Parts: sequence; C-alpha cells; structure tokens
Amino acid sequence: MNMDLNKLNLKEASEKLKNEKITSTEIIDDCLTQIGKKDNDINAYLTVLSDEAKKSAEESDMRRKSGRVASEIDGLPIAIKDVICTKSIKTTAGSKILENFIPPYDATVVSKLKDAGAIIIGKTNLDEFAMGSSTENSAFKITKNPWDISRVPGGSSGGSAAAVASEMCLAALGSDTGGSIRFPASLCGVVGLKPTYGAVSRYGLMAMASSLDQIGTFTKTVEDAEILFNIISGFDKQDSTSLNKELNKSKDPKNMVLGIPKEYFSEGLDPKVKEVIEKAIEKLKPKVKEVVEISLPNAQYALEVYYIIMFVEVSSNLARYDGVKYGYSTKEAKDLIEVYFKSRAEAFGAEAKRRIILGNYASSAGYIDQYYSRAQKVRTLVKKDFEDAFKKVDLILGPVSPTTAFKIGEKTDDPLTMYLSDIYTISINLAGIPAMSVPAGLSNNLPVGLQIIGPGLSENNIFSLGKTFEGARGELPSAPV
Ligand code: GLN
Repeated sequence: MNMDLNKLNLKEASEKLKNEKITSTEIIDDCLTQIGKKDNDINAYLTVLSDEAKKSAEESDMRRKSGRVASEIDGLPIAIKDVICTKSIKTTAGSKILENFIPPYDATVVSKLKDAGAIIIGKTNLDEFAMGSSTENSAFKITKNPWDISRVPGGSSGGSAAAVASEMCLAALGSDTGGSIRFPASLCGVVGLKPTYGAVSRYGLMAMASSLDQIGTFTKTVEDAEILFNIISGFDKQDSTSLNKELNKSKDPKNMVLGIPKEYFSEGLDPKVKEVIEKAIEKLKPKVKEVVEISLPNAQYALEVYYIIMFVEVSSNLARYDGVKYGYSTKEAKDLIEVYFKSRAEAFGAEAKRRIILGNYASSAGYIDQYYSRAQKVRTLVKKDFEDAFKKVDLILGPVSPTTAFKIGEKTDDPLTMYLSDIYTISINLAGIPAMSVPAGLSNNLPVGLQIIGPGLSENNIFSLGKTFEGARGELPSAPV
C-alpha cells in the first residue's frame, strides 16, 4: 500500500515509527519510488543508494523491534550534498576532477548521522566544489527547481534543496560558504540553516573557502532543522576550528527585539520579494516585543570582501588537486609539470578556473596587501556591524535572495550578476554567525525565504522565532512537481 511516507517531515515520521504505525523500510520504499518518478525531471541526485538504504532500513526496523532505537531520527532518510565525504561511496564535489573519487572515511556529520541510525539515501548535485548560486556549474547535470523546472533551484546545494522540496528524502545536508544553503532553500521553499562557524564539524567536508564554509541542514520545518542540527553539531577534535562551547539558552519570542536592516531593503531587491518579506515581518510584529530599524553600514562592501577572501582561499584549497594525489589525471603528459597543468586544465570547469586564477592574482606578492589584506580588514568591519546591532536587538530579519528563482541559463554568461545573488547572505559567513531561511510565502507561484540572523551560538533563538513565524504564517502549499 502506498502511503506517501516521503511526504512526512522528520518529526511526523519519527512519531509514526515510535507508535509502530509504519516501518523505516516503508519510508525508504516511498522515497525511492518518488525518486524513480521525479528525479528524471529534477536531477537532484548524483548517486542514489537504493540497496544500501534498504539494508539500513531493515537494520533500523530490527533495532526498533528489539527496543534499541538509536535516536529520534533512527530509520529516517537523509540526502547528503556530494561535497561531504561518505566512506566507500563516491563523492565527486560536482567536479570531473573527482569523478571517480571514493573517500576512505566518513565526514564527522555522516558518522554522527549513522550513529543516530539515520539512513543516507543518496548524494546530491551541486555547483563544482560548491562554487555557484544555481547548480548550473556541476560537471554532471543541471538540477531543476521543483516549483518550475525551467528555473534553477539556486546553489550551490541545489540538489539537496530540490530533493527535500520534491519529497525525495525527508531532510538533507548541504554546505554554506556564502549562502549555498539559505539561497537554494529560499528558491525551493524549504527551511535552510547555516549554523554558527565552528558549531558543526567541517571534518570530511571538501574545502572551498575554509574560513567561511559551514555544514548545515535542509528540512521541511524549523523543528526538523533543530532536530537535525542537534544531531550533527558539537565539538570535534578532528576540526581545528570546531567550537567547544554551549549554545546560548533560548529566549521567549515575546521578549525579543527584532532588527530590520535598512540596507537590505533598498534598490536591487525585487519589489515582489520585498512585499512578501514585509508581510512576513508584519505577521511577526504582534508575537514579539518590538521591531526596530537598524543599520549595517558596511554591508555594502560585503560582496567585494567575500569575492576576494573566498577566491584566495579557493585557489589555495584547490591546489591539492594536481593529478597525482587524488582524482583525475591526464592521459598525455611528457613530465610531471605537464601532469599538473593538463590534469587541472582538462578536469576543472570554467568557474573553478576563474576563481583559481583570480585568487592566485589577489594573493600574489605584488597584490596581497592591496587586495587580500585589505579585504580582511573590511571583513572585521562587517563583523563589527553585526556585533553593534546585536547590542540592541536579539535577531535580525531580512530577505535571503533579491529575486525568486531565475531561468536556467539566464545568468550563466554573466558571473557578476550571478555573484550579486549572494548580496544578503555572504556577510553572515564573513561574520561567522548563524542564519536560517524560512519559507515566507509565494510570489508568482515561486517561493520566497525570510532570513533570520542571530549572533554566534544563538541557534536556539533562531529556532524559537522560526517556529513562531511558521505558526503566524500558516500552511504553505508544497512544490507542484
Ligand atoms: N554563491 C556563492 C559562491 O558562488 C556561495 C557559494 C557557497 O555558499 N558555497 O561563492
């Protein structure tokens, strides 16, 4: 009997499993059926782990029978962005250079999910090495937006966002260096959480820009984001930037002061998106203590700062792919230098090459002071803007994306316009603070996400305000595909 168990969220599925109304095997079967039906159109997955997932589901059902349930998410299917290492399962980073790479170990987040009994159902598509805003930079396929398959799902974690939105898994993990969780979550109408820098281990996440990268979650509800975050977060001695600190206690939204940055509502924001966000804020007003206007004066420099620091870190991190140590190696080389040059030339895509070249330039001896060092100084100012704001307000609200999902191909020839998509998300990564995209409503039948931003380790406040907002907003339709 088909019960469409793929439509459940983590919380609902967990309750039903607990009451022995359903089995993990049935949930996995329904998700695999949905993948069979929909993924030819959506292209969310690079690898579907059908046999492995069915086997893990049987094991989970056995555990449950014998009363040894590992956690609230035991037996529930989670998809993983293909830039997060999974032991013995191909992990490509969406790049030809790692087309056949099989990691010998699990990322910490994957080990944690497995320890919790969760089931890895597949690996999802992404922009090459997480570089992009549309998932069009994948070396393998273009993921489509489940709300309109002529449009992008956003990026770079577009596969994870689309897999959750089209109910091909119950939740997913992604990574966010400049918006890559929140942006696709906004465009696909799901909840996307980018945690505090260091709150979730990066061990086993293929590095893009190490000082900005953070693993986070895609879920159908805020409560699910909280459940999943609580499982994947925590100190990890394998990650030298991992935080060994408790989260702040949560505050009742009734006592919260919320800040609206005036810079986030100026030109560049599509008036229709603005309308949805303003309505969302109006709905929250009666639920909180006060909503005040604030200013983030250095936000205007965030894009430039990000696109220097990130390029420099990318060029350094991608230097390890040399045709010798991992992945693709050219077939025709006379000597070692040619192995390096040809392997990289043949296997990196255009965006990766662009960033490697610009990053090397901005960090080269003659230019490092002018670009990279200056950008680091301005980064401190961007961070300070938030510190000043959080002296006055508990959380900040704004848009995630300046527009709704754009058409496939619309921005591929113009990297600068593509980079502008990140205008409201990147300063959060520069500051290392947490933020979440929560579906706020629709504009012309396309989802719009509300961004809730908090100071470091304030995830609990973000969750409680997010849940309050979901209550005030009411049900939204799910993606039509
Ligand atoms: N769109 C941004 C970029 O292209 C963000 C990427 C990300 O967060 N991984 O760099």
